[in-house]
Amino acid sequence: MSAHLIDGKAVAAEIDARAGEVGADLAKALGRAPCLAVVLIGDDPASDVYVRNKVRRTEAAGLTSIEIRKSADVSEDEVVAIVEGLNGDDGVDGILVQMPLPDHIDANRVIGRIDPDKDVDGLTETSAGRLVLGKPGLRPCTPAGCVLLAERAMGDLSGKSVVVIGRSILVGKPAALLFLEKNATVTIAHSRTADLPGLCRTADILVPAVGRPEMVKGDWVKPGACVLDVGINRIDAPERGEGKSRLVGDAAFDEIVGHAGWITPVPGGIGPMTIAMLLRNTVVAAAFRAGLQIPGDF
Ligand code: NDP
Repeated sequence: MSAHLIDGKAVAAEIDARAGEVGADLAKALGRAPCLAVVLIGDDPASDVYVRNKVRRTEAAGLTSIEIRKSADVSEDEVVAIVEGLNGDDGVDGILVQMPLPDHIDANRVIGRIDPDKDVDGLTETSAGRLVLGKPGLRPCTPAGCVLLAERAMGDLSGKSVVVIGRSILVGKPAALLFLEKNATVTIAHSRTADLPGLCRTADILVPAVGRPEMVKGDWVKPGACVLDVGINRIDAPERGEGKSRLVGDAAFDEIVGHAGWITPVPGGIGPMTIAMLLRNTVVAAAFRAGLQIPGDF
């Protein structure tokens, strides 16, 4: 048996296109397309690439974007003022502050000032509270992408056993809650978990979100299980030439692909889904703020 490869890039392209269609319908009522504002502080090259990709995909889908860039020496109060300005701008539906912020800026204070109804990253306390309480709200993008891919692969997730490895606010915890919302039985593992390999072998769906290259070995994965590899790790690849590197996930793909039921590759699996869910959240935020309905299948 060989695992089905889950093509996150293809699913993400489909969601981008659908966000564009639903956004275009909303635009008729709003008199403008849904709008995402992205704030980038400093000149971190990786953040620059992420922001450019987010803006490019937003515009390619027919939504609009505003990009606000400030140098790394901007004060925390100025960043808070930018966020509050965007909160008050009726033409902005979604606000994303690219992380990480420079050390002198308290990220929690900045995130805490984002209007929860524009919190397209799903990171404010209000968004987290809505998720825990099962109330409608904007859900964190990467975990929402994991659940969507799992449903595409396996259908109804009710009763499935899910092991999420990692308990971060960004990925692990919200992923666990989102799978719980789908009536899966969820266990969260972390650095203190006893017998992690044994626990992983119980999972119908395994979600490594750790940041350790190829940590999850072949014999940690139950035959037929679905592996949603969130980790993105850059490792040396001397076989590609001197000084070359490549990306790998938290799962040892080559050891797992022979007996898992489904697996997401890295790159091209969960990664592209994160931006797709951001576009979806932007459209959902625009509809919600205007009191408009979005199609039930979106
Ligand atoms: P964090 O560093 O915030 O969290 C990592 C988690 O892994 C922690 O909960 C930690 O446990 C746990 N952990 C560390 N070592 C082990 C171990 N040996 N065994 C079990 N658990 C362990 O990372 P993030 O959640 O932000 O990101 C995780 C990975 O996902 C990274 O590779 C990141 O690049 C990637 N990522 C990918 C995205 C995408 O779009 N595909 C988006 C966001 C992140 P403890 O709490 O006990 O310390």
